[in-house]
Amino acid sequence: MNVIDKLCAPHLLNVEPYQSARRLGGTGEIWLNANELPFAHDSYQIESSDFHRYPEFQSPALLASYSQYCGLAVDNILCTRGADEGIELMVRAFCRPGLDEIVITPPTYGMYQVSAQMHGVSVRQAARTLEFDLDVDAIHSLVPVKVVFVCSPNNPTGNVCGEVVIRDLMAMLGGQAMVVIDEAYVEFCPEHSLSSLIGEYENLVVVRTLSKAFGLAGLRCGFVLANPEVIRLLSKIIAPYPVPGPVEQIARQVLNQTGLARMRERVNDINAIRDQFVQELGGIAGVEHVLVSFGNFVMVSFADEEATLHKLSEAGIVTRKPYTQGLIEHGIRITIGTPEEMQAVLRALRGQ
Ligand SMILES: *Cc1c(COP(=O)(O)O)cnc(C)c1O
Repeated sequence: MNVIDKLCAPHLLNVEPYQSARRLGGTGEIWLNANELPFAHDSYQIESSDFHRYPEFQSPALLASYSQYCGLAVDNILCTRGADEGIELMVRAFCRPGLDEIVITPPTYGMYQVSAQMHGVSVRQAARTLEFDLDVDAIHSLVPVKVVFVCSPNNPTGNVCGEVVIRDLMAMLGGQAMVVIDEAYVEFCPEHSLSSLIGEYENLVVVRTLSKAFGLAGLRCGFVLANPEVIRLLSKIIAPYPVPGPVEQIARQVLNQTGLARMRERVNDINAIRDQFVQELGGIAGVEHVLVSFGNFVMVSFADEEATLHKLSEAGIVTRKPYTQGLIEHGIRITIGTPEEMQAVLRALRGQ
């Protein structure tokens, strides 16, 4: 064993880093693999005269903007480096390495598991039902666990978790575990947000991001919404200057009235492009099943997904074959891009 392997924290020896779309890469001009928005941004105003100072721990102006937007008070909000940091903070704040466990509900987003492994925390799985809904009894049967991660709309299946189901889960768990609802895509279906339940359940937490509907994946800015005790706890363990000054300034600009109006316009556009795309997929040979999606992506299963991936990549289209967790076989997750990009996908699928 070399020196580094001998000295490194043993639980990290066999941990695989998160296989992000960026790391996996691919070749082609049309990037439909990371659920990014296809629209480029206008320029933003940056005031740099304070850049010789450290930024604020949490900018009151930014918290006030997000509070206005999400309808919760500023002491219910923590600004993070993307939703991924919120996920990681929940693992670190509630789980002891080697002792505590989290629950994930596959097929689902991969970072919950990676965050847990990085921290030496075991992962239990409560598979979703055949319709990809939560199996509340299966989750409950895994107690004692510390944190349950629920993604809604769920990446990669696109379905949402209803309020009744979450209330069921919260009732069953009582105060036995934290429940984190990952609302990375909720702007595409704001009527399905569960953030208003935070006032009713001490142990309910919601994570959000500017990476998806706001189109700012490059910014690395997200939010944790929770009761003030949870926010205070996470504030103890987050880095001292988590939000860089330029990030704070740009985030405030996209959260002002004009920015929000633009976001909502783009969401309407993407949802319309998605619905049209799904309709056209119906008539294509080899398409077996298209899951109803509330996000800016669709899960499509194909008779021969390897051949389909080949066709797409020949056409310069980069997509993502989801971590084949349980129920998704032969599936490809396709991000909704511009109308032209979706036409290119359809042409490639038709073999034109
Ligand atoms: C993209 C994504 C995230 C990551 O968001 P960042 O703010 O970019 O870290 C978190 N959760 C889900 C479900 C996602 O799809």
